[in-house]
Amino acid sequence: MKVDLVEVGPRDGLQSEGVILPTAAKVEMIGRLVAAGLRRIEVASFVNPKRVPQMADAEALFAALPRRDDVSYIGLVLNRKGYERARAAGCEAIGMAVVASETFNRRNQGVGTEESMAAWAEIAREARAAGLAPNVTISTAFGCPFEGEVDPRRVIELALRCAESGPVEIALADTIGAAVPTQVAELFAALRDELPGMPLRAHFHNTRNTGLANVYAAVAAGVRAIDASVGGIGGCPFAPAATGNVPTEDVLYMLNRMGIETGVSIDGLIETARWLEPRIGKPVPGMLVKAGDFPRPRVAV
Ligand code: ZN
Repeated sequence: MKVDLVEVGPRDGLQSEGVILPTAAKVEMIGRLVAAGLRRIEVASFVNPKRVPQMADAEALFAALPRRDDVSYIGLVLNRKGYERARAAGCEAIGMAVVASETFNRRNQGVGTEESMAAWAEIAREARAAGLAPNVTISTAFGCPFEGEVDPRRVIELALRCAESGPVEIALADTIGAAVPTQVAELFAALRDELPGMPLRAHFHNTRNTGLANVYAAVAAGVRAIDASVGGIGGCPFAPAATGNVPTEDVLYMLNRMGIETGVSIDGLIETARWLEPRIGKPVPGMLVKAGDFPRPRVAV
């Protein structure tokens, strides 16, 4: 079995950090992630820089990235304007997010969910025509900081409507880190029943320490792409108290030991997380950085 690790550290990870990384440091970070074997990397979001200052250099960053045929750089967009910027910047893949809860959609994207759904349909059509791969994420699929519980039927309904526009993949996101494994298993199983053959991706935050358990549940439910951020950095500027994404190297450790292939080097990720610590001015929350891999390489005596 193979699972794609989708690295979201440069976007979801960095956007909540207090320190703004210079573009050159982001280029080095992404270069290290590619060297570690990651092939799908969410590099930036094309949003209003006044709202998310870390993403103000999205165009400059894309212009500076070394291009490889086997690496897909994803640009996240929330509306038509963002899509136009992402296309002009040279993204290979376009990620769009719609939010299952109306209040969060309004706070995060400045419009209601229905407007975001209409924008998705338009963006998906244009992206396909331009030869770009559009994917869509349904945010707050497992809980909303403002509205509380999110009805799973609402999530499925949105996913079915999103699927009509032909995404290459649909993701469910636990934007605030509220999900538990049984909920993850049930919702993804329901989605697979409704959309057999649609590639699925999962996005978890570790706010309540259920992140890795949720990854396990998602993989067991047939999800074959997992979002993660190196070191577990991140949060969400618009979700109170949301902490980082699941740490890429911690997810990788679990998958490696379960015999699941990813093509990614755990040493390369641990080194990148350590490299990142002085640059964001604090330790990263991931555990592998502290504990190291197991079994450890044999040391000659
Ligand atoms: Zn997130």
